[in-house]
Amino acid sequence: MRTIGQIKLRSFYRIKVLFFLIFIYLSCTSAKQDSVDKKQNSSHKMYSEKTDDTDQWKKEAKRMVNSQLIPRGIADKNVLRVMENTPRHLFVPESYNEAAYDDGPLPIGEGQTISQPYIVAIMTELLKLKGHEKVLEIGTGSGYQAAVLAQLVDTCYTIELVKKLADIASDRLKKLGYTNVIAKCDDGYKGWPEHAPFDRIIITAAPPEIPQALVEQLKPDGIMVLPVGTFYQQLMVVTKTKRGIRKESIIPVRFVPMVKPD
Ligand code: SAH
Repeated sequence: MRTIGQIKLRSFYRIKVLFFLIFIYLSCTSAKQDSVDKKQNSSHKMYSEKTDDTDQWKKEAKRMVNSQLIPRGIADKNVLRVMENTPRHLFVPESYNEAAYDDGPLPIGEGQTISQPYIVAIMTELLKLKGHEKVLEIGTGSGYQAAVLAQLVDTCYTIELVKKLADIASDRLKKLGYTNVIAKCDDGYKGWPEHAPFDRIIITAAPPEIPQALVEQLKPDGIMVLPVGTFYQQLMVVTKTKRGIRKESIIPVRFVPMVKPD
């Protein structure tokens, strides 16, 4: 026979065990919920970071257009649209990512630079593009100017002297889907006779004088935009008219030299 005391003691233990089991059950379910929450949080975080990233460069490109290009007189709507939609941060070394939309040139390696956004915009605007043109660019560099042109013309041929830059730019342009850019590594002073004549030529390194071979590869009524000079350089527009060559000086500029290989 059990005494009342023994019965009380057993019930007390039963209740204790029951509480213990309930406690274990609750801890397990809450741990499980925690891990579900963590997964959801992390995927949500990744998604929003990704969205923010796209939003971020779009915002910076828009700010660049509104603060650097429009106030300085860039008015061609197509040029402004393309400058706003081209991911400039993907054309600069990773360490300069955050400065990609700043108001200045940036190093791209091999002692070369990507031009200031305003200079890219004014040179593009001076080409007076309608959309059907075959354009030759000398000085591919990062490929950024070529990417801008690709969105405004029929075909962009581009020549870069430095092999390493030529390879990186051509890979980058392919990966980003600019399929109408045709790039090669060569001396730009020779132009690209197999594809000449061109509607437009843009030179993004400074020759000491206007290169004659390139003028010859320009179509009648064709336009060439280039910096000319050694230390003091002028941005120039050269137009091939029936009566000869018309030259206009636009603004003083500072470009890397257009190198004559030996
Ligand atoms: N357009 C480029 C920037 C050009 S910097 C961009 O958007 O990033 C000027 C480039 O011209 C450099 O990469 C330099 O290597 C190249 N260059 C210099 N002399 C050249 C020549 N003779 N032929 C072709 N490219 C030349």
